[in-house]
Amino acid sequence: MAILSIALPIPKRQLFDYLYEGTPLPVGVRVCVSFGPRKLIGVVWGVSEKSDWDISKLKSIETVIDDSPIFNTSLIKLCSWLAQYYKHPIGDVIQTAMPVALRKGESCLAKPIQYWTLSDVGLSADLSTLSRAPKQRTLIQLLHNQDIVKSKARADFGAAAIKSLVEKDLIKLIEKVPSSVSTWQQDLIIQDKPIANVEQAIAISCIEAKLNQYGCFLLDGITGSGKTEVYLQAIEQVLKQGEQVLILVPEIGLTPQTVHRFKYRFGIDVGILHSGLNNNERLQVWQQSANGQLGIIIGTRSAIFTPMLKPGLLIVDEEHDSSYKQQDGLRYHARDLAVMRAREEKIPLVLGSATPALETLNNALTGKYQHLKLNRRAGNASLATQHIFDIRQQPLKFGVAQGMLDRISQHLQQGSQVMLFINRRGYAPALMCHQCGFVEHCKRCDKPFTVHKQLYKLQCHHCGSAKSIPKSCQQCQSNELTSMGVGTEQLEQGLASHFPQYSSIRIDSDTARGKNKLDNMLSSINNNEHQILIGTQILSKGHHFPNVTLVLILDVDGALFSGDYRAAEHLAQLITQLAGRAGRAEKPGEMWLQTHDPGHPLLQDLINNGYAHFAQYALLERQHANLPPYTFQALFKAQALSARDAFDFLQQISQLFSAANGVDIKDNVFCVGPIPALMEKRQGQYRMQLLLQSPLRSSLQNAIGQKIKQIETLNLTSKIRWSLDIDPHDFS
Ligand code: ADP
Ligand code: ZN
Ligand code: ZN
Repeated sequence: MAILSIALPIPKRQLFDYLYEGTPLPVGVRVCVSFGPRKLIGVVWGVSEKSDWDISKLKSIETVIDDSPIFNTSLIKLCSWLAQYYKHPIGDVIQTAMPVALRKGESCLAKPIQYWTLSDVGLSADLSTLSRAPKQRTLIQLLHNQDIVKSKARADFGAAAIKSLVEKDLIKLIEKVPSSVSTWQQDLIIQDKPIANVEQAIAISCIEAKLNQYGCFLLDGITGSGKTEVYLQAIEQVLKQGEQVLILVPEIGLTPQTVHRFKYRFGIDVGILHSGLNNNERLQVWQQSANGQLGIIIGTRSAIFTPMLKPGLLIVDEEHDSSYKQQDGLRYHARDLAVMRAREEKIPLVLGSATPALETLNNALTGKYQHLKLNRRAGNASLATQHIFDIRQQPLKFGVAQGMLDRISQHLQQGSQVMLFINRRGYAPALMCHQCGFVEHCKRCDKPFTVHKQLYKLQCHHCGSAKSIPKSCQQCQSNELTSMGVGTEQLEQGLASHFPQYSSIRIDSDTARGKNKLDNMLSSINNNEHQILIGTQILSKGHHFPNVTLVLILDVDGALFSGDYRAAEHLAQLITQLAGRAGRAEKPGEMWLQTHDPGHPLLQDLINNGYAHFAQYALLERQHANLPPYTFQALFKAQALSARDAFDFLQQISQLFSAANGVDIKDNVFCVGPIPALMEKRQGQYRMQLLLQSPLRSSLQNAIGQKIKQIETLNLTSKIRWSLDIDPHDFS
């Protein structure tokens, strides 16, 4: 009898012991066990000779699902590291790392696929009899060398040719599991590529020098400087070695151009992992990658868990993007995990961005990462000029100043596209009574409702609750209700009526929801069906609009006064990324920023000296204020129906970390709080936070490691919901 420690999907920081008769199962094999009244699927995570529990009471494992581990050694190590670093229950870590289909117990073996092969007749057939059917002839010729996947044969040769060959009994269908000998290597081609410029050539050779070993690179290049081209040429070497490349991107929907570039350059299938896949499709990509059948795998945050048979290179594109940090459950940062994974797999990692995160930049400046810079735009394209537009005392029409409307008009008349960014969807951010000043609020969040005119709704952007737009004021019954401020919907309406001869399109999460919607919108823009593009954050991410020559940024002043110390960094990244959307092609572009605070040092520095300069000063500021990346943070969050409970719970935690409770003073860990979250109330729950900070990562880790089990069992946990966020990004 062996005692196996099983990781179960239970929010407890522990493993569960079960008995198993026979040779102990290896770590990483899924098993089914009974847990109380339930049956759960868990993963073997260790073997031991003794148990902390009474052995006579241990239950036996009921069924074994896998013949061999579903994770390779490096993924097993990564999961252990995640659990340890993020102080998260291992069972939940493993759940996060598995595709949903595997969590549900699906087989992790690749399913057989149907192939066409030559029949006995076909093997000896005289090809001259097919001289008038060239497609059939070519297919027969190809089948002499290899079997061809059913769907591929149909796509390449057409149903008619296949039908005809079947009728002549020349080919037959067989089923087989794709062999783990990679199929993509036969298809690999290298399409014409541009000759790398000097900066690119240096970057490529630095990366190539580190193939087959760990090395982390920050590829720091302005938009259009040819970062993607550097990826492509580095990938080429890896593929030629027969190794695989995993690429993380912030959002697949925004990168169809990039995916197409990869496919086209190498002529091979690219495994794509995005939120639109169903569980089986996702599992299939996972299996194909694990079996080495895909050369390139590209996906969003959770794709970092994709196993590879022969890993060769990791790339995190737009590494500064906040979507790489998971904001619930296991709050991991995919970029940081990529670093751990590259170390574990002994392969290079390239972090690419035009606006590197301050953490990453600091690692490059201190020499932890190798800093590769691309300072010039590739080809002939020039960078957009950047300007500030002072709107103090200026009349605004739907949020836009007259001077800016004139500029929009000029660009439109030249046949260009213009792009307007506003960080607010909906018609207006509030509805107010003109008589008494009453503002409609969401009672669950204590925040004004956003007006959505097209939907005839007031909607809370914090909890999603909605109601129809009232006809009169709740407080004084006046029907003079006016909307306050401007959102994308109002901006679109305003511009459409101001420039009736041009077509406008709005891209935000209201309009771009649904399968292929975003894709279609992006291609209609590239086909010049629309001249005026209006949108939110989505516009700043990755997509290139070659015909846009004017970018106008409205209403970012709020971010200048944010309570979040990362707000300045994010604003600078946003502005720089938006400016990068313009003037991609040979058309020179300009970016204008409307503000009430034209002298603001952040804006002035950014516009006049660029992101790199801004970032250097921002890092200095962080250093003086003892903030990350110079210190390390962990955030306990608690929420409850009563603010008191949430407060008391965090207060107890704070006491656990006081010197009196055995945390060594030399650990240098100090607590801030409990204080209310930036959003004090949400969905009817009061929200509190306790911040832990230390100049040493190890001190913070040790201190939390010592106390986490105790925290898990505090009495108040029954009344509140709590979470721990290591390296927090979200203080809202
Ligand atoms: P980034 O990823 O930094 O935004 P890209 O790699 O997309 O930049 O390059 C921008 C444009 O310049 C693309 O159209 C690309 O084909 C072109 N390009 C990149 N490198 C070169 C080069 N060395 N010579 C000519 N054109 C290049
Ligand atoms: Zn009123
Ligand atoms: Zn709400």
